[in-house]
Amino acid sequence: MLIRVIEFLVGLMVVLTMVRSVVGFITKMYTGQSATSPQQRAGNTSRPQSSSASSPTPAGGELKKDPVCGTFISTATAFQTYAGGQTHYFCSTKCRDKFTG
Ligand SMILES: [Zn+2]
Repeated sequence: MLIRVIEFLVGLMVVLTMVRSVVGFITKMYTGQSATSPQQRAGNTSRPQSSSASSPTPAGGELKKDPVCGTFISTATAFQTYAGGQTHYFCSTKCRDKFTG
């Protein structure tokens, strides 16, 4: 019984994450193109914005599955390693060490 509740909650979380990204995408399409961006002010040019590589991912991030233990973690907080041409995300350094050997 409890397992079914957990299954339901996990499914709900996945659906909510998907819905949120879709809604965000649609909102961007409607508001982002017509409205002039407030970031295009003269004062902002003094500090060039670096790429997303160095800046932290906004809270929430993207959910990725830990290939070792199967836990879903946010890319904002996950430990990551680059192997086999793609980035892998882990819930802890323990799982990462297990994965990398
Ligand atoms: Zn893990």
